[in-house]
Formats: sequence, C-alpha cells, structure tokens
Amino acid sequence: MVIALVLLAAAGQLVWRDVRAQGGSTLPLSAPSLRAAAYSWPSPGVPGSSSCQTGESFAEAAGRNAASLDAAPLAPFGRPETGWDIYLPLIAREIGAECPPQSPGFAQALASFQGRHGLAASGVMDATTLAALKAVWMSRRPFVAATAHGACPAPPAPELMAWADPAEGYAAKPIQLRVRALDAYRNMVVAARGEDAAIAADHRLLTIFSGFREPDADAANCLAQGDCAEPARARCSAHRTGLAVDLYLGAAAGYRPESTADPNRLYQSRSPAFRWMAANASRFGFVNYPFEPWHWEWTGEAP
Ligand SMILES: [Zn+2]
Repeated sequence: MVIALVLLAAAGQLVWRDVRAQGGSTLPLSAPSLRAAAYSWPSPGVPGSSSCQTGESFAEAAGRNAASLDAAPLAPFGRPETGWDIYLPLIAREIGAECPPQSPGFAQALASFQGRHGLAASGVMDATTLAALKAVWMSRRPFVAATAHGACPAPPAPELMAWADPAEGYAAKPIQLRVRALDAYRNMVVAARGEDAAIAADHRLLTIFSGFREPDADAANCLAQGDCAEPARARCSAHRTGLAVDLYLGAAAGYRPESTADPNRLYQSRSPAFRWMAANASRFGFVNYPFEPWHWEWTGEAP
C-alpha cells in the first residue's frame, strides 16, 4: 500500500508539472486550455508506469474504459451527466490505481475493487461500479449517517466555534468553524502548500468560501438565489454543523467557484488543489461530497 501511494504521488507530480507547462494553472482557463489540461499520466518509460501494461487479460476492459471515460451516459447523483472523468482523482485514490484510466493496469485495479465489493470483476467502469464507489465515499461522511432517517443535527454550541483568520476566508470572507475543525483545516493547508508548488503559488487556493451557516440563513439564502435544487441544502445543510467547508479550487472560465455545472466540476477535479485533496485530505480527517469538488467535511467530531 505504501508503495502504491508513493507511486500515485509521483504520478501526480508528473501530471502537475505537465499542466503548468501548458499554462493550465493560471486562472481563469479558456475552454480550449481546459481540454489541454486533461488528466495525464506517466508515459511508458516513466518510473511507475511499467505495471500499467498487464498483458492481454485487461486489454479489452481498458479499451472500454477509454471509450466511456468522457462519453458514457451516467447519473451517479441523479442528474444525467456524461462520462466519469470528473470523479477520476477520487476513483484512482479509492482503487489504488497509479495508471492512466485507459490502461490495463487501471482496469486491473478496478477489477480488484469490484471483487472486494461483490461485483463482477470485469475491470470495466459502469453505472453499478460508480454507484458502489459513491456508496463508499458517502459512507465516510458522518453527516450522511446522522441525517439518514430524517434527523438534522442541531448547530454546535457557540463555545465550540471559532473565527478563521481573514486570510483563511476567500476574499477575506468571515468564516466560522468548530475550533477543532479549524485546527485540522490549518494543518492541512500548511501541508498542501508544503507538498505542492502549484498550491503554494496561489494563496487563494484552499481558502474557505463557506463554513458554518446558520440554519435559518441557509434556507433563506437558497430561496433567494433560486437554488434549493438539492433539498438538503434548504432543510438540513452540512454547513449547519460547523464541520463543513467549501474550499476555493479555482473555477472554469465563466463559472463561479461553487457552480455545479459539469464543465466547472471537471475543471476543478483536474486542478492541483483538488487532486492534492483527493490524495491527502483523509490524513487530516476531511472527506469530500463528490458531487461538489469544493465541499469537504471534517470527521473528527460527530455532526
Ligand atoms: Zn458546502
């Protein structure tokens, strides 16, 4: 496992260097450069890539994955979307793949995940496998369990809360979180900046654009913005717990940082900040709501 993580990290460094060489880390990106910044992986001959060619056994699965990556009709969160590229950093992390999604090595890792989760170990990504991955990710969110049967956690007592420093809020927005969640966030950002040059180079990255939200204000806001599409946002948002943060990851040209439009989510999933988070946030107790690349919840206290 340790070796796999090191290889994954090495692959990530190579990818980020490629993206920077293409100017992909300068915001905002135009649509053409969004394509240019597509997920890339070590090429043959690069250390870590030799195991990506596993022989004939997963060659057909690799071909099917290559075809479906940005084309398959899927709806993992209910809303129709195309392909599974948006979720690739989370998937690669989950299945322990250090290989490109079009490679036999990736298919082999996916087959292992499928086998562990009672699915046919085909190595082919499909709606059932994506649903299984989603179930794993959602199971790591205590807030989901806490609200599974219609309950909604009360906001934390004021003495459990703290204000972030102005520099920690996106555009100096005042942000309130639980004390220990804020500590964990700070440790995480220090690590991110220390471990990834692209994150260190832009201090807007990983600043918080939403933390604790008063339950009443949250419901009023979503009504005012005409965006209560997700019922949970109006009735019982994770932001009422003081454990949830929305982190600035950049945004595709023409989109707001919290836009759920697929071009924005794809842009963000390919960003250095998200990819570092996908690989490392669990070290600090943070888990992602995968439909929103920017939304993370600290799991160190009950909601
Ligand atoms: Zn959020």
